[in-house]
Amino acid sequence: MNRFEGKVAIVTGASTGLGPIMARMLADEGARLVLAARRRELVEEAAAAIGEAAVAVRADVTDEADVAAMVEAAMTRWGQVDVLMNNAAVPGTDKWIWEQTVDNFLDTYKVDCMAAMLCTREVLNRSMMGRRTGAIVNFSSGAGWDGMIRKSHYSAAKGALRILTKVTAKEVGQFDIRCNCVVPGAIETELMVNYMKRVAEEQGTTVEEIAAGIQAPLPLKTFSTPEDVANLALFLASDQARTITGQSINVDAGLVMT
Ligand code: NAD
Repeated sequence: MNRFEGKVAIVTGASTGLGPIMARMLADEGARLVLAARRRELVEEAAAAIGEAAVAVRADVTDEADVAAMVEAAMTRWGQVDVLMNNAAVPGTDKWIWEQTVDNFLDTYKVDCMAAMLCTREVLNRSMMGRRTGAIVNFSSGAGWDGMIRKSHYSAAKGALRILTKVTAKEVGQFDIRCNCVVPGAIETELMVNYMKRVAEEQGTTVEEIAAGIQAPLPLKTFSTPEDVANLALFLASDQARTITGQSINVDAGLVMT
C-alpha cells in the first residue's frame, strides 16, 4: 500500500519504542517525515535510518517555541503537514495517591495531554486549517480507561487525552480534519521486555511466566507488538478512515472492551 504518497507526517517521541517503528512504516508507504524528540542524537539516528524522506528535529513537545519550530521545520523542508502522530509520552514516577506530588502529576500531564494540544494547535494553524485537510492521532493508554494503581498522574492524563481527542474532532471537522486516539494495552517494546526480565529475576522465575501472568486476563493471551499498534495508527491517519473521527480505539488483545 502507498497510503501516504504525497503526504507529510510529524511523529513526536520518535527516538525510542513505537515512534521510530511507526515512522519507518509511514516512510515505507510514501510519507515524508519530521521526527521529533528531546534527545538529538537518538532522533537523528532514527531519521538517518529512514534516509532522505526523514528530517530530525530536537524538540521538547511541552515547549511552545520548540513545537512551533518543529512544525516550521516541516513547512520549510516539505511545505505542508498532513499527519500528526502525538506519540511522545512519559510514565512519571509511580506513587500512591497519598504520596502524589504536584510536580509529578503536572510534569506527566504536560507531556501526556497538554503537549498533544500544543502540537495540534501548531499544525492546525501553520498548515492543516489553511489546506483544509489533515489527520491527527493521539496515543492514550488502557490506564486512561479504568486507572492503574500508583499511576494517578499517568492515568488521569491519558484519560483526559481521550476527551481532548473528542473536542478536537468536533472543532476541526468543519475543516475536513480528523482526530482520533489509539489506546494501546501493553506493547512488547525493549522497555517492556527489560521490565519483565527484571521482575523475573526479582521473583526467581522466568520471563515466560511473568508474561503469562500479565497475559492471563487478556482474551487473546498475547501482547501487541509496536507494529500492531502502528497499523491502527496508520489506518486512522490514512484516507481509509475518512469518516472516522473523535474515536478512541483499543489495541490491547481484548483487555478493555468499550
Ligand atoms: P517510549 O517511552 O519508548 O517513547 C516515548 C518517547 O517520547 C520517548 O522517546 C521519549 O523520549 C519521548 N518524549 C518524552 N517526553 C518528551 C518531550 N517532552 N518532548 C519530546 N519527546 C518526549 O514509549 P512507547 O512504549 O514507544 O509508547 C508510545 C506511546 O504509546 C506513548 O504515548 C505511550 O504512553 C503509549 N503506550 C505505551 C504502552 C507500552 O506498553 N509501551 C502502553 C500503553 C500506551
